[in-house]
Amino acid sequence: MNNYSMIINGLPVAAEAGSFAVIDPATGVSFAESPCASVAQLDQAVDAADMAFQTWQYSSHEERKALLHKVADTIENHAAELAEIIVKEQGKPLALAQVEVGGSVAWTRYTAELEIPVEVVEDSENKRIEMHRKPLGVVGSILPWNWPLMIAVWHIMPALRAGNTVVVKPSPLTPFNTLRLVELMNEVLPAGVVNVLTDQDQLGPAMSQHEKIRKIVFTGSTPTGQHIMRSAASNLKRLTLELGGNDGGIVLPGADLDAITEGIFQTSFLNMGQTCAALKRLYVHESQYEELADKLVAIAKEQTLGSGFEEGVNFGPLQNQMQYDHVNRLIAEAREAGATIHASANVPEGEGYFIAPTIVTEATEGMSVVDEEQFGSVLPVISYTDVEDAIRQVNASENGLGGSVWGADLEQAQAIASRLECGTAWINGHAEVLPHAPFGGCKMSGFGVEFGQEGLFEYTRIQVVNINR
Ligand code: NAD
Repeated sequence: MNNYSMIINGLPVAAEAGSFAVIDPATGVSFAESPCASVAQLDQAVDAADMAFQTWQYSSHEERKALLHKVADTIENHAAELAEIIVKEQGKPLALAQVEVGGSVAWTRYTAELEIPVEVVEDSENKRIEMHRKPLGVVGSILPWNWPLMIAVWHIMPALRAGNTVVVKPSPLTPFNTLRLVELMNEVLPAGVVNVLTDQDQLGPAMSQHEKIRKIVFTGSTPTGQHIMRSAASNLKRLTLELGGNDGGIVLPGADLDAITEGIFQTSFLNMGQTCAALKRLYVHESQYEELADKLVAIAKEQTLGSGFEEGVNFGPLQNQMQYDHVNRLIAEAREAGATIHASANVPEGEGYFIAPTIVTEATEGMSVVDEEQFGSVLPVISYTDVEDAIRQVNASENGLGGSVWGADLEQAQAIASRLECGTAWINGHAEVLPHAPFGGCKMSGFGVEFGQEGLFEYTRIQVVNINR
């Protein structure tokens, strides 16, 4: 993996700021060095993207569609390689990495096909007014480490489809899949349309302040999103901020537990819980509390932990030491506060960042495992008596990414779902994202949406053409 390079203007470039170690989360040991860009190289990448924009913005919709389909083809042709890189640096099991690559292809193709129509707002005898959607210019994409390839695709493809050019910067924890993705894209796209730099966290602030970057699309933590928003004021950058979540789910009295328990477990522990819109707090009516908790603990016990490359493993390590320490702290604090910890799957020996899928019962508000985003393999289960109080507790979070209601009475479930303060409310499901359904948060989970027509339009500005006949 040491062979992957940063790319500026279609060409590999040597790192000007040395290199840094990338760690295999299954062993806790460094397996390769990633290049590290200087701030001067960021300027070069932005200049290249700006130069490419002068032509790319005028390419036809048909041309861009065709090129994005070619990009999808090349991702598809290198699916096995990309999935292996993801397992090595991110840690998830191979089958899940394959889902990530497959999703990246599907999202690319869907985005390629989206239209950007001209809207006519008046067409009268004396006047015609048209609303056009123009690209913004150079878009800076700043990525997290949890679904690194998929989120890169979510950022880059709509930006390109709308006629922008891109400088992308992966998380220092998962740089190689993005370097390889951009290398593959450059086999298809004109030079400078997409550029990639890797860093150890110093480039994000420089990108947010950069005078020639017109928009930042960021997925990551809320505090970093706040930094970016402050810096973006310098040239009034557009922003899409997909930030942290602490999604609550409410199980209504009388729910069919056999029908929903597996879904609750899977959407809570998706990617070892390291999913922004995973179900992170589960509220269960007291009448079914014990039964549902027991069922969840039984599923947790069945999980097989290990390296994502091992046959039969369906539960990998957490991605990094910081996350591992954070989740262990939340579990320890819950235990001290009187909750019961159920963690019975076997954890492999060694220095890998493994935490067994952990169900926390007798959890209550005020415990850090409930109030803070865990972003890891632990789910607190909270008992409620009155559904109004459950709604209050779900909405008490400062975050507002997703929420869910689980029950057989769909009308009642929908009435409650509509009262949840979140960007997506699922009924009998959670964490499901789709290329055609806009996705984004409210409150401290950020603003703006990705996906679908609405998501694409975030990479455009409106120009009104007012014609007096
Ligand atoms: P992070 O904020 O630590 O880092 C994300 C990126 O920001 C990295 O590329 C990092 O180098 C860069 N960065 C760091 N400091 C910066 C600064 N001052 N200015 C600009 N960029 C800077 O987040 P993470 O730990 O990689 O990701 C986990 C978080 O992401 C969780 O809170 C999770 O909920 C959230 N997340 C949200 C979504 C969503 O769609 N809402 C999706 C995935 C993850």
